Amino acid sequence: MGSIAFDAVRTPFGSRDRMLGGAASHFALAASMLHPVRIVGPVGDDFGEAEMAVLRTRNTNVDDVEQVPGGKTFFWAGVYGDDLNTRETLETALNVFEHFEPKLSPESQSADTLFLANIQPSLQLEVRRQCRAARFVAMDSMNLWIDIARDELVQMIGEVDCLMLNDEELRQLTGKPTLLAAAREVLSWGPAGPSMIVGKQGEHGSALITADDYFSIPAFPLERVVDPTGAGDVFAGGFMGLIASQRERGLDGDVLRNAMAYGTALASFNVEQFGTEALQSATPEAVAERVGALWRMGRFERLDVDLIR
Ligand code: AMP
Repeated sequence: MGSIAFDAVRTPFGSRDRMLGGAASHFALAASMLHPVRIVGPVGDDFGEAEMAVLRTRNTNVDDVEQVPGGKTFFWAGVYGDDLNTRETLETALNVFEHFEPKLSPESQSADTLFLANIQPSLQLEVRRQCRAARFVAMDSMNLWIDIARDELVQMIGEVDCLMLNDEELRQLTGKPTLLAAAREVLSWGPAGPSMIVGKQGEHGSALITADDYFSIPAFPLERVVDPTGAGDVFAGGFMGLIASQRERGLDGDVLRNAMAYGTALASFNVEQFGTEALQSATPEAVAERVGALWRMGRFERLDVDLIR
């Protein structure tokens, strides 16, 4: 569950006035490469069959996408700086999300793995409460909600297993100066709170922090990035999709590390084209190839080195 949107995006490499976007849309396109997905959220009358067909990529179930008569789809506009690391939000119009009262189908309510993509924390909380059967729940958020709905956000974080947030948003949320200190702070929030934190660091990759482990993976190196929009959501889709696909095995350290690798590989495709374009056509072979390359990049044999005193 999360935003399903129209995005207007300008980057140094071009612009789009209105394309399918939204955190849940990006997430579903990625997660569906690893596990069946049900996407939840409202859209307006302006959301056409062509957009719905993209949501249905790889058989994603859209029964819980509610088309609101007379409503307008969530709209977001943003512009990127020259190095693509800085982004300014020009407009956020919640539209149909403003009065959305989710009533999930029984099938969605019985989901085992739940991702609460970026949207108002009050909505995330409502959906969390409807999915009583969920055994693994993760969430994302962003600076806007830290600014305007902090109390609800903190309450929401107290009810998930995994918090995924941009590095700087984790610092903003906790007031702690380093990623590790910020993650440790959130890990201390309440008995039912998160047992793992994923800090997303854009082109520098991401880190997974638990009470007794730290794992870090670089972003897949690319010479040409066209549009970073949605990379975090696609990362989350790969991460959650891998975990959902391994439910019989359980949640051990290797499953989590593979989840980080699949999230990273999928995100690298997303940023090579505008919006959801690249993920509609990504092939399993190409994804597996990038996961293999990431594995080779991080691995080294330890030499027996004599350090001088
Ligand atoms: P990301 O680049 O991972 O931050 O995700 C970008 C996507 O999030 C875009 O497709 C937007 O439609 C969507 N988005 C932007 N702002 C918000 C917001 N405040 N709440 C929910 N979704 C948002």
